[in-house]
Amino acid sequence: MATTPSNKMLPKPHLPPNLPSLVATAFSRSVATKTVNFYPTSVTLLTINSIPFQLRYSPSLASKPKPPSVTTPKLFFNPFASPTQEMLITPFGTSPPSHNLVLNKFAVVPEHFILSTSAFKPQTHLLEADDLAAAYACIDAYARHNKELFVFFNSGDHSGASQPHRHLQLLPVENMKEGLEGGWDVLAKGLTDPNTRGKLPFEVFARDIKGLGGDGEELRRVYLELYNQACEAVLGVAEDIKHEGEAQISYNLAMTNNIMAVVPRLTEGGVVKDKDGQEVGNLALNGTVLAGTALVRSEMEWNALREDPDQVNQVLGRIGVPNRAKM
Ligand code: AMP
Repeated sequence: MATTPSNKMLPKPHLPPNLPSLVATAFSRSVATKTVNFYPTSVTLLTINSIPFQLRYSPSLASKPKPPSVTTPKLFFNPFASPTQEMLITPFGTSPPSHNLVLNKFAVVPEHFILSTSAFKPQTHLLEADDLAAAYACIDAYARHNKELFVFFNSGDHSGASQPHRHLQLLPVENMKEGLEGGWDVLAKGLTDPNTRGKLPFEVFARDIKGLGGDGEELRRVYLELYNQACEAVLGVAEDIKHEGEAQISYNLAMTNNIMAVVPRLTEGGVVKDKDGQEVGNLALNGTVLAGTALVRSEMEWNALREDPDQVNQVLGRIGVPNRAKM
């Protein structure tokens, strides 16, 4: 029997209509009890190939514990396995709940939160339709309050990922703009424009998703198209790209209400040197690079990169596949 498109659509995950205030309340409560670590960061605007790029300095993140290894998941605490009441914002998805929204314990900006699967699923496996539908439902819930969310996902050794339990991260865009006097917006929003893509030192693949209505299967179709392009950029003409299970490359995904973007990753970052050529640290980038942001944890790196922003450009040139269309 032929299947009609409506039969194929997944039921839309239902979220509380007041999601932004739910997140804000949970965040303030947990910062007050010190369950969440958030200390104000310093931020500055750099111009990289005429793209406004924000550099953020968070000294408190220097004390964030690093998981011993992503490849030995059994040896360390999984924060997403059964989140405490203080960290949990809300479970949601079809019954039983497929996902949890939890606070990020090491918030980069206020109200930084996480969408994790309720049951353990590997971070390195390809995303499923219900993951993408759940992420888009959050974007939609914010849009209903005229607020924007930037969603990102890190997968694979070179992507900046640290936790093996599947999760996407969500950042309220107005909080990412705090401390900047304008002139910056989420990079991903402009990535369907070849002129903007052409200014980046790395290859990135992007599609407009505005007309898809947040349908999980449609979002997954776009995701797989972008993932295929990313695999081909890394592996060459790939005839054997699988669409289930373990991803064949490291990559970051970004999503806003109108754009989905995928960047294939080859390295996590690169060294930072001071003006005397001494190594002062390492700039590691995750999916927030697709928002046009980079985060540093030491004052020496912060000073070195502000003095010589071209180092950010050089690191951007190493993290992915060099952009053949670069202008
Ligand atoms: P990733 O590095 O992409 O794997 O993302 C993992 C995220 O989990 C990071 O942004 C961490 O700050 C966050 N995180 C680490 N430990 C915890 C925890 N105990 N509770 C909530 N979030 C955490």
